[in-house]
Amino acid sequence: MAIQNKKSSDAVAIVSCMDWRLNFAIDGKISELKREYGENITTYVFRNAGAGVKAFEGSIKDIARDYNLKALVIMPHNEGCKGMGLVFDALKNGVPISSDMKSQLVDPFEKHAFSDTGELERINPKVQAEYARGFLDSSVDIISELVDLKRVKIPEDGEHRIFIMKPGAVKYELSLDDKRGGAYVLQASSLNEVYPDLNVGVNVLKMRKVIFVTSSHEEARQVNTEIRIARMKLGNGVELSQVSTY
Ligand SMILES: [Zn+2]
Repeated sequence: MAIQNKKSSDAVAIVSCMDWRLNFAIDGKISELKREYGENITTYVFRNAGAGVKAFEGSIKDIARDYNLKALVIMPHNEGCKGMGLVFDALKNGVPISSDMKSQLVDPFEKHAFSDTGELERINPKVQAEYARGFLDSSVDIISELVDLKRVKIPEDGEHRIFIMKPGAVKYELSLDDKRGGAYVLQASSLNEVYPDLNVGVNVLKMRKVIFVTSSHEEARQVNTEIRIARMKLGNGVELSQVSTY
């Protein structure tokens, strides 16, 4: 990421899962972090299948280099995380998985014991926090807590579709193209970082609508290239479009 000379300002980073049911919980967490660290704190949100920190290691290190990174907040969830389903299938059922997905999501679980996906969901916060501790300075707080989807506000389910956006904080409730549920969110510095997850969304979860959200003219140009690449890789049958945040 091209971020320069901002070491004097504070930032927080959030890593969470792409699952649509988390949108309100993340909106709430951002408000909470602003109350704790100040309204002007820069917030970066990263999301993929399963809240796997490893995929975002490079981007988070960039933030820690360029900002005074106060905290990394990791927000995995229960109640059927598809990412943990992939980990379980890969490690216990021998289901094939792409090498990128294996390296980014599955490998950090290899040395941990678990007997079902519920248990995987419960150890996920610890697994992600341990991984993050391995590359972050001890001055950065790592807050890793399971989001209990039985206890958070979830909108009514809608058509399942995937939004792809940059890591800057937005209020999902307002910035997605409508207010229905069903909006999965992949959030990353580049399409590359989350392409394995997009591939899972399209080819495993069978989602047919992918919407790239851009916040500036410059970003829209860069994203045009990513859309062309996604179109080539994903083939026909997937509807790719672009919207701008307001
Ligand atoms: Zn999940």
